[in-house]
Amino acid sequence: MLPRFWRKIKYRYNLVGTKCENCGSIYYPPRNICPECRRKSRMVEVELGERGRVVTYTVIHDVPESSKLMKPYVVGIVELDSGARVTAQIVEDPERVEIGSRVRAVFRKYGEEGEDGIIYYGTKFVLDE
Ligand SMILES: [Zn+2]
Repeated sequence: MLPRFWRKIKYRYNLVGTKCENCGSIYYPPRNICPECRRKSRMVEVELGERGRVVTYTVIHDVPESSKLMKPYVVGIVELDSGARVTAQIVEDPERVEIGSRVRAVFRKYGEEGEDGIIYYGTKFVLDE
């Protein structure tokens, strides 16, 4: 992949967050300022890794008819092995997802669900098996 292209899409397709070196908090999506430290913020980019576990999840049954999302679909909070928490769609059959399930990030084309789809920064998770 061309480096210039990669830089442009980094935040959409890769799990890069920011860490405040003052207090150690990690943010995803990245923030320029740490809400805890404000003017003392010292933000640096960190790779968050792509694997983690499901902390909690919700099965969403109410999907607009026009949406191309599969129905029902799962939205969860994933705690990555780096400690950062990410809210994202888990692209699996709801019956297979459990609290504690190991998952890994996949990077789907941004916006493929259409206008009414819920899109979380292009990052989705699948079961890591
Ligand atoms: Zn901070």
